[in-house]
Amino acid sequence: MLGLRSIRLRLTLWYVLLLAIILAGFSAGIYVTLRHNLYANLDDSLQTRVADLLPLVRFEGDRPTLAESISANSPDLDEQFVRVYDSSGRLTFDNSGGAGGEPTDGEAIQKALAGGTVTRGIEVNGEPFRVRIVSIEQDGRMAGALEVGRAADDVSDALRSLLLILGVAYPVTLALASLGGIFLASRALSPIDKLTRLARRISAEDLSQRLNLRLPDDEVGRLARTFDDMIARLEDAFRRQRQFTADASHELRTPLTAVKGQVEVALTRPREPDAYREVLQTVNEEVDRLIRLVGSLLTLARADAGQIPLALEAVDVPDLAVAAVEQVRPTAQQRDIELALAPGPAVTLRADEDLLLQLLLNLLDNATKYTPSGGRVTAGWSADGNRVELWVRDTGAGIAPEHQAHIFDRFYRADQARSRAEGGAGLGLSICRWIAEAHGGSISVESAPERGSTFTVRLPR
Ligand code: ADP
Repeated sequence: MLGLRSIRLRLTLWYVLLLAIILAGFSAGIYVTLRHNLYANLDDSLQTRVADLLPLVRFEGDRPTLAESISANSPDLDEQFVRVYDSSGRLTFDNSGGAGGEPTDGEAIQKALAGGTVTRGIEVNGEPFRVRIVSIEQDGRMAGALEVGRAADDVSDALRSLLLILGVAYPVTLALASLGGIFLASRALSPIDKLTRLARRISAEDLSQRLNLRLPDDEVGRLARTFDDMIARLEDAFRRQRQFTADASHELRTPLTAVKGQVEVALTRPREPDAYREVLQTVNEEVDRLIRLVGSLLTLARADAGQIPLALEAVDVPDLAVAAVEQVRPTAQQRDIELALAPGPAVTLRADEDLLLQLLLNLLDNATKYTPSGGRVTAGWSADGNRVELWVRDTGAGIAPEHQAHIFDRFYRADQARSRAEGGAGLGLSICRWIAEAHGGSISVESAPERGSTFTVRLPR
């Protein structure tokens, strides 16, 4: 599981790397700060000692020196020493016997004699010491220098211990953090492994499976739920696809069976030419129905595949409405249905003219189909700044509320027998809906059984 291609390992490595850098910075910070503070303390104590001793300096002629009793004041001669120099840099007082009379740094003495103060670290018998050298003034002239030294081994011991602790703690902390990191990353990512295993089991043949992981609403939980939602949509799409194929085959078989039956009956024995003509007439009608059906299927299939580009142009809405109404007028007259066009505003619309005409024709065709003789079909349009509404109203059979939600579905027919008798396959309105939506619009219906229906198409301008 812990290959280089595992997020777990990479997360842990990043985490340990970051921690290593942060810890290193942190350790260096502690070390430097402590070192600075310890030395500052030591220097402070040297400064205090200098301040205590300076008033005790006495002069033999113009040579400064200290009373021998200073030595007795010192608690531990191994730990500290005092030396006094005259203005030519010669020693006049030295109690560093224990510290071995360490050679003095002539340069530092000169600097002190010139009025400066020198603080520095030296080694005495291999032990670290800190010394401070200041000038001694007499009547406003440099009369000599005072050197005070103090052992710094406490400071260096403390710093060495700290280094040791940090040196051990650093790798141990990193090792523990790596283990912790692997543990945490594994814990956080284990639902993903589970998700992968389950997802592998879901195949196109069996889309009914769901992960159904009871995960909290975090990143992984949302991923699992999104996955389930996606499978649900896929399942729905597959189901509709299968349904569509089944419905299409069924619709194609019906007219083919009718043709086959007619032809077979006609062929059982020789007949008069008129009888053949009659059979051919029926066959012709059925073939017409087949052509319409296959045309609709092709339109929907190409629409699904996104293969019908919209030829957008400025469409004059009144012209379009007149053209549509005039095309269905003969059928309306045949059925004794009054066909009217309500007056509307002059308006143009960016749309595919052929598709819009097909949409209006489908609606008008349905209106005349499902309205009994003596009824009335009216078409019209209105417009405001943002959109154009086209509507077709009839005084026909109407659509029961339970059917209204489905009539735009493919192959859906509210009244099977009647619709088939009229030559419909239940595809007209689904094509209308596709055309409306392809233009960024929508289509809806308002209908009351036995009182008629109004179909409204809303299109953005
Ligand atoms: P069809 O080819 O069957 O007319 P459509 O998709 O055009 O298919 O219509 C679907 C169904 O909606 C029809 O079968 C019919 O029951 C119903 N319908 C459509 N338009 C009307 C209307 N103007 N009045 C009553 N029912 C309608």
